[in-house]
Amino acid sequence: MSKHKEPAELARETLKLLGERGLAPTPEHYASVFRELGGDKEAASASAAPNWSALIRDLLRQLEMTHKGVTLTRKKEGLEVVLNRFASKPDVMSEKLNGLMRSWGSGSAAPDLTSTAAPEAAPAEPAAPPTPTTSPAKSADKAAGHDLLKQLRELLAQSLENSLLTHPELGEEIKRLVVVVRSTDDPAKINELAKQLRQFWLKLELRGGDKVKIQEGLLRLLRLLVENVSELVADDEWMQGQVTALQTIISQPMDKHAIADAERNLRDAIIKQSSLKQSLTDAKTTLKSLMTTFIDRLGNLTESTGEYHQKIEGYSQKISKADNLTVLGHILDDVMHDTRVIQASALRSHEELLDTKKKADEAEGRIKALEQELMQVSELVREDQLTGALNRRGLDETLDRELKRADRNKTPLCVALLDIDNFKKLNDSLGHQAGDRALTHLTQVIKDTLRPTDAVGRYGGEEFVIILPDTDLQAGIEALQRLQRDLTKKFFLHNNERILVTFSAGVALRGKEEDQEDLLGRADKAMYQAKQTGKNRVIAAPALNI
Ligand code: GH3
Ligand code: MG
Ligand code: MG
Repeated sequence: MSKHKEPAELARETLKLLGERGLAPTPEHYASVFRELGGDKEAASASAAPNWSALIRDLLRQLEMTHKGVTLTRKKEGLEVVLNRFASKPDVMSEKLNGLMRSWGSGSAAPDLTSTAAPEAAPAEPAAPPTPTTSPAKSADKAAGHDLLKQLRELLAQSLENSLLTHPELGEEIKRLVVVVRSTDDPAKINELAKQLRQFWLKLELRGGDKVKIQEGLLRLLRLLVENVSELVADDEWMQGQVTALQTIISQPMDKHAIADAERNLRDAIIKQSSLKQSLTDAKTTLKSLMTTFIDRLGNLTESTGEYHQKIEGYSQKISKADNLTVLGHILDDVMHDTRVIQASALRSHEELLDTKKKADEAEGRIKALEQELMQVSELVREDQLTGALNRRGLDETLDRELKRADRNKTPLCVALLDIDNFKKLNDSLGHQAGDRALTHLTQVIKDTLRPTDAVGRYGGEEFVIILPDTDLQAGIEALQRLQRDLTKKFFLHNNERILVTFSAGVALRGKEEDQEDLLGRADKAMYQAKQTGKNRVIAAPALNI
């Protein structure tokens, strides 16, 4: 970079390099390549400490050199002013000294660009027009420079238009600037344009910075919230399950889909959990109070039988402490037993007890139903929100459970990994929403085709895993082929048009003590083969020695 280049030449080289590297013509790319080529020495060295020895050497040389229209006395006066004024600011001083030397160089009408004086004297503005000159060789440059300026203006206009995509809210301002950039031909107006552009970039920078900060802030808040909730509900297993699911989501790299998933899960969980929990607590309280009332009455009726009275007191205490349905059930059984023993002396109380037992049974039934519902809500966070298939977490848990069961029962187990064929094309031609519906349709057909003991999970975008317990390899392949046939009958309908959805699949029979990861890996490999050999086919992974 020792050779000093004309700005027009530098700008041309910058454009060429941008093209060769396939970089978009954004101002950032332009400035960085321009700087790399040595066109912006001032900017490049702005943050570095000034090189004083080189500067002083230049200064001495420039003092001695003859500059047209600048006397030695004028040079010394200028030097004195700079040295006095910027004595306490070395960084600014080096810049000012360079500026001073440049001003000597341009003391005459035409600046001496052939001088070896100081490379720092190269103009810093990337888009600076070529230096005016009178020599014939340079007038060709002038025409080229004018062309270049036009190209640069067009590049600038295009990069401004690009920012429309990321900042549609600034549309009006961007469009106005684009018009000005394209029409500003007069160098005198370029300064005004540069000012407007600088203000605009500043505005963009502020906006970008704000967005990132807001996102980070929200994420921090969410983490804080989840951590605190998890401490508050440490004794609630169900809620802990929900919180763990959320923590898994937000511990992965966040994008707007993950944030939406987390929000949806949290909202569902909170709404359903609070209403169900309230009913559950009410039912338990009712059961408890029924039993307590009954025990009290029984106590009054049998005051005469001392031993029984003591037992009743014991039951009352146990009931007040019990918070668990099983314990309450046991107490009720004991009371029934004891009451039967003293049936003769407390006949009426037995009738009441039967009545209470009936009510208690009803309450217990309600509690069981509620608890079941609560479990199902909890299962929701194991499901993929779009298709209702298991999500990765649900898939992981189910496969783990089924592998253990297969070990216990010594039964074969197959997994199939399937990937929709040419799904990108379907998305592109029918739209992303139709793609989403196709995924849901496929999940439904899989669920309808397979046995109730089989399970299906969404492994990735358009990839699914099917778990086939108690199934050998041949049966596994046949199950997938049946699914292929079913899909040719149960079409996916889009605007009343029948769309055939096909898939490629790999099926693997689990080897002895083979873990999830290896098993899925083998199914994946077979699926890849199915893709490679023409798609819409099912391929079995080679059997392991077992
Ligand atoms: P191949 O037959 O080789 O599998 O080709 P393909 O087009 O199916 O495969 P590719 O992996 O190239 O494209 C998968 C596409 O699935 C890309 C992505 O846009 C789309 N996709 C992933 N997840 C979703 C989703 O949730 N909804 C929709 N509509 N599309 C999705
Ligand atoms: Mg895929
Ligand atoms: Mg695919």
